[in-house]
Amino acid sequence: MTRLAIVGAMHEEIAALRPCLADVRVEHRAGREFHLGRLDGHDVILVRCGIGKVAAATTTAVLLDAFDAGALLFTGVAGGLGDGVRVGDIVVATTLLQHDMNAAPLFPRWEVPLTGRARFDADAGWTARLVQASRALAADGAHAAAAATHAGLVVSGDRFVATRAESERLRADLPDALAVEMEGAAVAQVCHDFARPFGVVRTVSDRADDAAHGDFQRFVRDVAAPYSRDIVRAVLALG
Ligand code: SAH
Repeated sequence: MTRLAIVGAMHEEIAALRPCLADVRVEHRAGREFHLGRLDGHDVILVRCGIGKVAAATTTAVLLDAFDAGALLFTGVAGGLGDGVRVGDIVVATTLLQHDMNAAPLFPRWEVPLTGRARFDADAGWTARLVQASRALAADGAHAAAAATHAGLVVSGDRFVATRAESERLRADLPDALAVEMEGAAVAQVCHDFARPFGVVRTVSDRADDAAHGDFQRFVRDVAAPYSRDIVRAVLALG
């Protein structure tokens, strides 16, 4: 198998995976630390990309070009938007969109100019494996809070959505959006340009509402790291 890139935006989203890597070699590019090694028998590159769409896009381009990663798995936390998407649930992206992309009236709202599309699909195989792995984890009872796994639209933008008014606006504009975060759709667009498969999995840290800031900080401090680690290892175990 070709090398798999494993990416998170924040330290906490990848921290618990780092000690699981064997035969590690660290390389520096574009201000990031790329940890090349083996994880449960798979060749991987683990990297923290930083927060936001540009940070994610830069890192993804380096992974796919300079390191020739064959596939990419993004893991992290997100704000829940869809009805019934609760803190502690897992959301797997089937498709992604930049909710703050708007070149209207030149192009339809949300469409990435000159690509003819607003939504970029995740790889169906990775998505299916992520859903399977997440459901198995929840059934295991390993993560008490991981009550449900949802699959569908994840939206990304360069905003931490932390008011009820803003999340209600997003829900009204994009009724099928399950979760909001700040990197996934950028990763999706770059992977699409390189024609490489990718998957995005997010644990819901908050509901993107007036309580989001406190919920987010608590979740990231207490559980984001083991959640990311266990989901990634569970999906690798599926082959
Ligand atoms: N470290 C800062 C900012 C974090 S930004 C702080 O402590 O406030 C939030 C990160 O988590 C991003 O990487 C984003 O992808 C994800 N995220 C979680 N909840 C989010 C929300 N409600 N809105 C947008 N991004 C969210």
